[in-house]
Amino acid sequence: MPDTVPADDTVPTPDVLVVGAGVTGIYQLHLARAAGFDAMLVDAGDGPGGTWFWNRYPGARFDSESYTYGYFFSEELFVEWEWQEHFAGQPETERYFNHVVDRFDLRRHMCFGVSVLAATWGDAAGRWIVETDRGHIAARHLVAATGVLSVPHIPAFDGIDDFAGAAHHTGRWPTEPVDLAGRRVAVVGTGSSGVQVIPEIAPEVAELTVYQRSANWCTPLNNRPITDEEQAALRADFESIRHTVATSVHGFLHRANDRSTFDDDESTRRAFYEEMWNSPGFTKLTSNYLDLTADPAANAAFCDFVAGKIREIVHDPATAARLIPSDHRFSEKRPPFVAGYYETFNRDNLELVDTQATPIRRLTATGIETSDRHRDHDVIVWATGWDFGTGALERMGIVGRGGLRLVDHWADGPTTFLGIMTDGFPNLYFPGGPHAAAGNNPRYNGDQVDFIHEALERLRSRGDDVLEVDLDAVRRWTDMVDRGAEHSPFGERSYYFGTNIAGKPRKYLLNSGGRPKLFKEIERVRSNDWAAFRSRPVSS
Ligand code: NAP
Repeated sequence: MPDTVPADDTVPTPDVLVVGAGVTGIYQLHLARAAGFDAMLVDAGDGPGGTWFWNRYPGARFDSESYTYGYFFSEELFVEWEWQEHFAGQPETERYFNHVVDRFDLRRHMCFGVSVLAATWGDAAGRWIVETDRGHIAARHLVAATGVLSVPHIPAFDGIDDFAGAAHHTGRWPTEPVDLAGRRVAVVGTGSSGVQVIPEIAPEVAELTVYQRSANWCTPLNNRPITDEEQAALRADFESIRHTVATSVHGFLHRANDRSTFDDDESTRRAFYEEMWNSPGFTKLTSNYLDLTADPAANAAFCDFVAGKIREIVHDPATAARLIPSDHRFSEKRPPFVAGYYETFNRDNLELVDTQATPIRRLTATGIETSDRHRDHDVIVWATGWDFGTGALERMGIVGRGGLRLVDHWADGPTTFLGIMTDGFPNLYFPGGPHAAAGNNPRYNGDQVDFIHEALERLRSRGDDVLEVDLDAVRRWTDMVDRGAEHSPFGERSYYFGTNIAGKPRKYLLNSGGRPKLFKEIERVRSNDWAAFRSRPVSS
């Protein structure tokens, strides 16, 4: 294990190395540079955007309102960037991140096309020795802003390498155009990614086969262009919008409902559900009846309404029945939001294959074989999800003090304080990683970035170099997460428990206490003089 900075003048020795040029990493880099730290960033992709760099599949789009997803650290940025739609598509979002990077002169501190192979803590040097495919970096602080949905999962079907056509995971979509026109295309998976791809490509392909293992509760995104009046209102309301998204539980602007499902009579309830159906994105969760996730009868009432909508839209009753979830309630899995999804199943060129009834047996050179037959495909789209939460961090080859490997430290699941640090790994931070919250991610991840930045500034002002979190604090936070998980609205089948990956420990991967708990604990850190942490200069 290297414990000294590699003896090579060409090895950069930044104060802060950020890994990941997504929404979280860019913000961390900006804060660090603005505060005078020598900070740099590396990313395996060829440009900024993170999720919005890699997920360039047809139909990829926000389901957080664009202006609440973007940054709030600069009013000028907020005012000058005019989002075109309430829920921007991937190209616009990628343009936004490029704009931010240039607007704040960050690009010259960013290295693209660089993959981290290993990162080892050198205790004597008080630095992370980071090995990349383009050389070493010896960083004082390592911020792994590597994302929770960044390691694609493709199931290990027999014969997967035999397929001779094109095959792309939604999260590794090529930068060059993929020609789908007139082709026989398979989409495997009907989570948020699959249900965005399917309606987008259906009109141009010759045949579309949708391999669905479980149906999802999809409701309309209700996207539309932002009008001139709305643009003006957004500009005028910057301060109040910033305040609301910085303090609300989910980081959205949505107003919570104060009524419960059965406070209303049936016809009022039906009218309210119609209003929900026609309202934007996540409001179906955040502004719905307040007992939606807590009371099974309330949840069932909303599910009945959505099931009725699916039956109304989809002409073939057998297809409609297959599209109605039977294994989970609304919100037990992270709900996808769609445009024209159910309508697509009325097309003549689409076939829905239920892979519970007829499981995928293997891939062949020409297509996919299920238990009942073989289907030929020219292109396969893997919309099969991710190794959520810990996937990227556990693939970074991170080795902490005394040769402790992160993969061993977390063999039974992640242990963290604030979802930001873990014991035994000084100066390693992972904002937006495991034990972060669900909701409008940039806001919650931004809270974590702010806290890390505060920690770095505090360390600098004390003349210290090394920051460590105490085991007790890690245990307390992790116990809170695990206890809260028992009451989580998300079910066992949600990837939030890691159960979609064979062999992964079944552990809750979000912060079950949500944003309020994070705020409370950060206040506690401040009020008791950072008792959960120890810091020291390198020479001591
Ligand atoms: P996902 O929600 O994990 O969906 C994966 C899909 O693949 C599921 O339908 C799953 O079926 C299926 N699958 C997995 N293994 C399979 C197998 N062996 N055989 C057949 N089917 C299999 O992944 P995702 O759709 O990429 O979405 C992940 C998350 O990314 C979302 O929840 C969301 O947070 C984010 N996202 C956001 C947006 C947006 O609008 N902003 C868009 C896309 C993604 P089962 O359900 O049966 O496991």
